[in-house]
Amino acid sequence: MASPSNSNNLVSQRGKCKRTHDGHIYIRDKCSKDGTRVFWRCHHLGACKARLHTSASDDGVLKVLGVHSDEPNPSAVEVAAKRTALKRRAEECQETPLQLIESVFESSTQAAKLVLPSCETLSRSINRARKNAMRQAASPQDRSSIVIPEELTMYESEPGVFERFLIGDTGEGDPARILLFGRESVGEWIGLSRKIFVDVCYALLPDKSQNLYARMIQLIRAAWPAFAPEAISTDFEMGFVNAFTASFPDAETWLSVQKMKKKLGDLNLLSRYRNEGSFALSARMICALAFVPLGDLNNAIAELAVALPHELMPVLKYFEDTYVGSLLHILPDGTIIRREPLFPQSMWSVHLRTLNGDSRTNNYAEAAHRRLQTEFGVKHPNLWRFIEGLKRVQHHRDMLYARFESGNRPAAKRRKYEEIDRRVLELVNNFHIHTVVGYLRGCASNFVMNP
Ligand SMILES: [Zn+2]
Repeated sequence: MASPSNSNNLVSQRGKCKRTHDGHIYIRDKCSKDGTRVFWRCHHLGACKARLHTSASDDGVLKVLGVHSDEPNPSAVEVAAKRTALKRRAEECQETPLQLIESVFESSTQAAKLVLPSCETLSRSINRARKNAMRQAASPQDRSSIVIPEELTMYESEPGVFERFLIGDTGEGDPARILLFGRESVGEWIGLSRKIFVDVCYALLPDKSQNLYARMIQLIRAAWPAFAPEAISTDFEMGFVNAFTASFPDAETWLSVQKMKKKLGDLNLLSRYRNEGSFALSARMICALAFVPLGDLNNAIAELAVALPHELMPVLKYFEDTYVGSLLHILPDGTIIRREPLFPQSMWSVHLRTLNGDSRTNNYAEAAHRRLQTEFGVKHPNLWRFIEGLKRVQHHRDMLYARFESGNRPAAKRRKYEEIDRRVLELVNNFHIHTVVGYLRGCASNFVMNP
């Protein structure tokens, strides 16, 4: 719909085209077949049969057909025109709804003021107009030209308290533009945070090269100068891990072995994983290799291979190639020579970490990812909706963090995890008294892969 040029034209609530003439309001009906005329109906649809024909080229009134059953209502026409002006202003400037309503309606006639809709109704139409305008402007074709509306760059942590949410931006005109979102105030405590388990910010990157990850880390450090983690747990690719290690050479980086779940999906085994208890346990036994002392891994893989259902062999092979290193050859004395694994063992093995009482799994991060997935059920949400979604996720996380800070983790859950931790520690302490397969089964029955 072309933007109306004539002051008789109105913007109606649901995007229907409206216009006024001689004290009456009309709703656009259709065009004539030859495209030269536009047909309008009186907005008292059903009650009034009057029609209006206008020229499609210059919008001029050609004729009025029929007689109105309603009286001309100049106040309603005036209010409708003001409401159109209000919506236009709402899209163009950032004044609050009350400021907008006052400035648009202050010049109204007394008669019009008497029939004004309530402030609530007007505020709602302002918000709706802004949202529609954002939607139309969204999904820019080219990331270098994105201009983010001011209100999306801010975060309201509690009513009336704002802080920046767009905390990093490599700038308009950058073809490899990076946008970084997070709470600016996180910079106040992030320096105290030794281990990062949960996403503290969200970055939109054009691709996943190590170079871009390095730029992203620079942006984070610029936003939060105190950011200096000693350890980070991540599902990212090696590009991120390398960039991270280059920026924080002393930090420990480790991965969970949850990528196994994706492998099961690739092999169309997820349905069996979900529905067959013993199959699921076998699959988790592959992940449980992370609990095996590094020196016993070769033996554990060999014994597990015999015990697994054959459909899971490709998963075991994947684990071996990715995390342990693919088999090159076996020396006469039995020594096994492997390729360098993609992920060094220090990064994923939880054996020592369990003995040391460090956090084994990553329940916080997993809950956070689940939450992200529910928020972004749509595959390709447009950018503005995506940012709105990030803010909702951030609010949810603020709530969890506040609870965590006040020590109010749900007691039942805490007990459950403590119990699991205790059982796993017991197993790990007694690795050598179990058979390898029994040990793996024991570990595997104490955790689930993230859903
Ligand atoms: Zn009428």
